[in-house]
Amino acid sequence: MDKMFFTDEHNMLVEMIRDFAKNEIIPIAQKLDESEEFPKGLVKQMSELGLMGIPIPKELGGAGMDMVAYAAAVMELAIADASVAITMAAHTSLGTIPIVIAGTEEQKKKYVPPLASGQMIGAFGLTEQEAGSDAGATKTTAVKNGSGYTINGGKMFITNAGEAGLINITSRIIEAGEDRGIGAFIVPTDTEGLKLSAKEKKMGWRASDTRQLFFEDMYVPAENMLGTPGKGFKTFLKTLTGGRISVAALSVGTAIGAYERALKYATERKAFGKEIHEFQAVSFKLADMATEIEAAKLLTFHAAWMKDQGMNIIKEAAMAKLFASETAMRTTTEAIQILGGYGYVKEYDVERYFRDAKILEIGEGTSEIQRIIIAKNILNAVKGL
Ligand SMILES: Cc1cc2nc3c(=O)[nH]c(=O)nc-3n(C[C@H](O)[C@H](O)[C@H](O)COP(=O)(O)OP(=O)(O)OC[C@H]3O[C@@H](n4cnc5c(N)ncnc54)[C@H](O)[C@@H]3O)c2cc1C
Repeated sequence: MDKMFFTDEHNMLVEMIRDFAKNEIIPIAQKLDESEEFPKGLVKQMSELGLMGIPIPKELGGAGMDMVAYAAAVMELAIADASVAITMAAHTSLGTIPIVIAGTEEQKKKYVPPLASGQMIGAFGLTEQEAGSDAGATKTTAVKNGSGYTINGGKMFITNAGEAGLINITSRIIEAGEDRGIGAFIVPTDTEGLKLSAKEKKMGWRASDTRQLFFEDMYVPAENMLGTPGKGFKTFLKTLTGGRISVAALSVGTAIGAYERALKYATERKAFGKEIHEFQAVSFKLADMATEIEAAKLLTFHAAWMKDQGMNIIKEAAMAKLFASETAMRTTTEAIQILGGYGYVKEYDVERYFRDAKILEIGEGTSEIQRIIIAKNILNAVKGL
């Protein structure tokens, strides 16, 4: 399959990340998970390797590569450590790409180069306490105030928040007492009135930084508005479509990490005088895992390739995210089963993949929401809408 989607450039990128992961990430992944420590040193190294701006145009300081390259990079990082992969993916898909897509020339020139080089980390704030799947229920308000907006409200579960130099947020825009719909703003994290909670304590992605944001009379100049009121929300939905490819890639990587450990274990562990892979119950699990991973990989790279061709990928990105995230959950569960009791203890590292898998079925649109998107698309097609 790699031959179908990969050029020599893609292969070189993957080889480079595999080496980096083997030498730098894997030796410390368990420790980072245990200590819930943000991988600052690894982010610095990833910046030096050019991994913090893979799909960002060269003229804006990125690597100018395509979505296939970006998905391959996220996948390789996730094989080693999903926390490191989501740090890079949220920074790129959610922190940087919205500005590339919707920013003015000034905004692009000012913010994208430091983001693309990794000098500054980006984040994205859409989710609120009462607006998760139902993002249209956003309650944060930005009230026009002179040459800017005064923002009040808050956001939940924001990846990279505590390490970010800027956060793209959504808000209702109120002008002359009138609700103009949902819009978006670029908010530098040193803005007065922006407060962050302590880091959330999580089941998985424990080295990734997740926090709540509070906006208390936070004044943001009008020049920081991203897109135009009303359209801002659409921009963010567009962002989520690309973000779904990165979560699909993260899911495939998480599944591969657990599968490779289970495969190795099955050839080493003996029971009843045999290596356990000789029991069909075990080898069939491995066969199912390998098959589902291959299918998830195909859906992911196909959606990325379609995006590179400029095609509409709403349905395909949802399918890739849905199938890959559920594959990651099934694969990591079965990997623990293959390792038996050893799968349940930290030393063998498979339980880390299992804990890291669950969020994949929740973040960037739950599985239920992906099914709604897919169903709507296929039914609209039948009805000719
Ligand atoms: C570790 C982590 C990192 C995150 N990072 C970010 C980030 O960087 N930026 C950001 O903005 N958000 C982020 N999120 C938020 C995440 O995207 C939301 O948690 C997710 O979209 C679900 O929203 P919710 O938690 O409010 O659940 P809800 O929307 O309340 O859903 C609860 C349940 O109801 C179901 N449900 C809801 N509506 C429907 C429906 N119409 N039909 C059927 N079922 C439905 C859901 O599928 C789910 O099972 C993160 C979350 C976590 C845990």
